[in-house]
Amino acid sequence: MPKISQRSIDEVLGKVALHEVIAQEAGVIFKPTNDGYKGLCPFHREKTPSFMVYNGPIPTYICFGAGCGEKGNVLTFLMKWKGFGFREAFDYAREWAKIPPEEHTSANYKPPPPAQESVCLIPWNLPPISSGIELPVVGKPVLVFNPGKGTTQINSPSHVHVYRSASGAPLLIVLRFQRKDGGKYFHQVTWKKGGIPTHPQLKGHWYQLAFEPNMRRPLYGLEDIPQWQQIKGQYILFVEGEKTRDAAARMLAIERLGILVLCNLGSTGAVNKIDWAELMESIRSCSSREKPLSVILWPDADVVLEKFDGTTINPQDKFVSKWQAEILKALDEYGLDKDAIVLRRVQPERGRESGWDLADAFEEGWTKNDFISWYLTHSTLMNDRVQSTEI
Ligand SMILES: [Zn+2]
Repeated sequence: MPKISQRSIDEVLGKVALHEVIAQEAGVIFKPTNDGYKGLCPFHREKTPSFMVYNGPIPTYICFGAGCGEKGNVLTFLMKWKGFGFREAFDYAREWAKIPPEEHTSANYKPPPPAQESVCLIPWNLPPISSGIELPVVGKPVLVFNPGKGTTQINSPSHVHVYRSASGAPLLIVLRFQRKDGGKYFHQVTWKKGGIPTHPQLKGHWYQLAFEPNMRRPLYGLEDIPQWQQIKGQYILFVEGEKTRDAAARMLAIERLGILVLCNLGSTGAVNKIDWAELMESIRSCSSREKPLSVILWPDADVVLEKFDGTTINPQDKFVSKWQAEILKALDEYGLDKDAIVLRRVQPERGRESGWDLADAFEEGWTKNDFISWYLTHSTLMNDRVQSTEI
């Protein structure tokens, strides 16, 4: 049988009304959104819709439901839902798109390899912490339950970082505690109704959240997105750690500079676990701007480390190359053009103590003008190839 040309496939993918196919085949009732449709996922049971269809040049679907992660185009859908082979799905979709069968050329087309379930990350979708729950505050004792060990701990946090969705709903909280010996430790907590074995009378409690390896994590600072969008902000600044993010967000008033400051949960090693959904959707909704967004990567002033075997690690390079790779991947995953953004990396001052960051800078008296002038004189454009060369 002759192969189906890529051109025919693109034509079918682009012409078919994906939401109509899914509505018809799986009985999903869709509601229109800004950029597509939303409905109950046909692949898993749910009460609130987390299944999205996006009206790009090629319509795609994705489910943000817990543990689901189904996504694809009309061919993926038909193969999965109806058990079709590729050609059968193509012919079926072609009829939906009302395209007459053609004399297929012999162009080589290989269907994409099936998605590897094991590496597919589950989007963040734990329910937000109910409104009305009093959130932990600095200096006030808070009881934290460890469900894995069944132990509880009461201590007063020295820092409280509330991760929120773009709508402002609290998703999880990072608590930082000071040890008596001067060390520090962190707990990621969220809220659960009901008591625990040692305190059965509690109406609810904070419990330590254990991240499954394949579970995505929200970005920190998303609650600023609506304001940033409203003023048509042109910049996104990624820094290392919540403390730095808070200091930078405080200093660089968003309504003045249009800079959305964000960081990820965990170290640079966890940048590949980010749930990009809300940020990418907001980039999508501002893709009509004339200028691409400037995305600034500002690492801590970490020095190059020499390992025992003589090789070196450059933490700054690692930070910028990790973010660059994951941002480009996320743009691709959400069907956005990589030209929607321009990436710049900042070179922090040399000779600083390792770990010196923007929070330290602002503590030293940096003003927003110092920030801007450092950015203008010490940042370089990164090209779209993933690289880790020194500037
Ligand atoms: Zn689903």
